[in-house]
This record gives sequence, C-alpha cells and structure tokens, in this order.
Amino acid sequence: SSRYSTDFLELGKLGKGGFGTVFKCKNKLDEKEYAVKKIPFKDGPDGQTNREKVLREVLALSTMDHCHVVRKAWIEDGCTVEQSSSEEESSSEDSANATLYIQMKFCPETLHGLLESLRVSDTVLDSDRVWRLFRQLVEGVRYIHSAGFVHRDLTRSNIFFDENNNVQIGDFGLATFVPDMSSGVTVTGDDGNLLYMAPELKMEDAQVSDKADMFSLGLVLCDLLFQFSTDSERAKIFAILRRGGELPAVWEAPHPIVAELLALTPSARPSASQVLQRQLPWKEVGLEYVHELEDTV
Ligand code: ATP
Ligand code: MG
Ligand code: MG
Repeated sequence: SSRYSTDFLELGKLGKGGFGTVFKCKNKLDEKEYAVKKIPFKDGPDGQTNREKVLREVLALSTMDHCHVVRKAWIEDGCTVEQSSSEEESSSEDSANATLYIQMKFCPETLHGLLESLRVSDTVLDSDRVWRLFRQLVEGVRYIHSAGFVHRDLTRSNIFFDENNNVQIGDFGLATFVPDMSSGVTVTGDDGNLLYMAPELKMEDAQVSDKADMFSLGLVLCDLLFQFSTDSERAKIFAILRRGGELPAVWEAPHPIVAELLALTPSARPSASQVLQRQLPWKEVGLEYVHELEDTV
C-alpha cells in the first residue's frame, strides 16, 4: 500500500493530461486540499519504461521552491521509488504497474478561467492588476530559468492562482532541463500548446532556450492587455504574431515590451531578469516583491 492511499482522500478528478491524471485530494494529516497527479510508468516500444526519465525530471522539479511556482513533492511509494535505482528490476511486472504520485498545492483558478469569467461578465482587467499579475509571472519564470529549466508550455491554462490570487506557474509536463541557456538544447516534436508556442519550436530539431518561454509570455501579456472577444480572434492574431507580423493597429499604443518579447529571433527577446529590471508600469506596486528578487539557485 502506498502513502497515497493511506494519507489522501480522493475528492474528484480534475483532469487528464498527456502524462497522467490529476485528482483533487484532501490530506488526512494536515486536512488541506492538494492536487495530486498520478503518472503511470509505461513500457516503451524498446522495452524500456519511461521511469528513468520521469523520475529524473520529477526529482529536479520537486526541488523548485518559489512563491510563484506551484509547490510540488512526490509521494513516496515504496515500490516506485526503491525500484527506480535498480536497473535489473526496471522491466519486471511490478514496474509496469508502478505509479508515481506528485503532490501539488491545489490551485482553485487558472488564468484561462479568470479571463473567461471576465469575458462573460463583459469586464476588463484593470491595468494595475494586469501588471501585478504579469510581474508575478515573470518572477516565477525567472526562477524556473535560474533553476536550469525551460517550461515550454506557458499558456493561460497552465498559469494558476492560489487562494490569495497570487500567480502559480504549473503543468511542468514539457519542462526541459537546459544546462546552458545561451546555447540551448535540441528538442524534437512540437507537442506543446501550438497557440502560445515560440516560432522556433515548430522547426525540426528546434533549439530551445529560456527565450522560448519569453515569447509565450509575450502572447500571455497580449491576453492580459487586449482580452480577446472570441477564441478564434485570439487564434488568428496569435498566428500572425508567431509569423512575425505586426501587432494589430487597433491596439492603442501597446507597451513596447510586447513587441520585444515577440521578436522572431530568440536572442533579440529580453530574458526574464532583463524584463524585471525594466521600468514597466508595475513600479507602483511597491516594494512587496523586492525580497523575491535576490538571486536564487
Ligand atoms: P496536457 O497534457 O494537454 O497539457 P493538461 O495540461 O490539462 O493536459 P495536466 O497538467 O496534467 O494536464 O492537468 C490536468 C488537469 O488538472 C487540468 O485541468 C489542470 O487545470 C488541473 N490541475 C493541474 N495542476 C493543478 C493544481 N496544482 N491545482 C489545481 N488544478 C490543477
Ligand atoms: Mg495544462
Ligand atoms: Mg500539460
């Protein structure tokens, strides 16, 4: 029996992603709600399981600790963790059925949900809220990059809010470890959300670096600033922007950072730390974030 079944009460299914299924759970010990992702280890075509890869990534991701990154830990499950280090057992029957549990802070809302409810009620985000939100987002992304990861799937559905309405970046299903951001790493297959994906990731043997996330942040900023009235309008404009097209003329004086983030050439885009050093309209939010700006990792 795993710690999952003894310590957690399953309250319902939140959704199924490419790697596993997420359940809302209550921890019987601290009585708090969590989102727990169950990832079954699968046997690949070459007889290898995805175990090594999954464990390596999850281990690295679970060390991330930042106020704007969804907090996660894996739940120790005797059979899963112990067998992971043992090569000869990785093809045993047990391992085919093993499950990895990732315990995450439960986030009651997403940016997608927020923008949809604003659209339905015909309300716009006020400018202070936009820049506060964007700043939290960039701070989280800066931390992720400093930890050596590129998220690769920053979209309105993967940006969560906690109970205090603070940004929580989640869904690290495509996160890639990039030891040297200046050279990037080669990735194959463009399996992220095409809508927010940086143009260079659509190429064969794409080079991915932190700048891919910066492009996605540019599109998310468009989402925040220009609240599209329909999904198809948003898809149409994002497609133009991904090809390096101009920002729509109807957008009144968009902040110059938007175009900079959407530069077709990755090296021309500012990094997350560079964005944080800019005098953006968020300066009036005050000093509450200063403590998060110290160097991390
Ligand atoms: P895909 O594989 O296409 O990326 P996905 O992004 O929906 O799918 P997951 O990240 O596994 O897949 O998430 C599945 C569902 O669980 C989503 O509806 C997501 O909103 C929800 N979810 C994920 N993490 C949390 C969390 N920490 N708190 C609350 N809900 C979450
Ligand atoms: Mg997701
Ligand atoms: Mg996902």
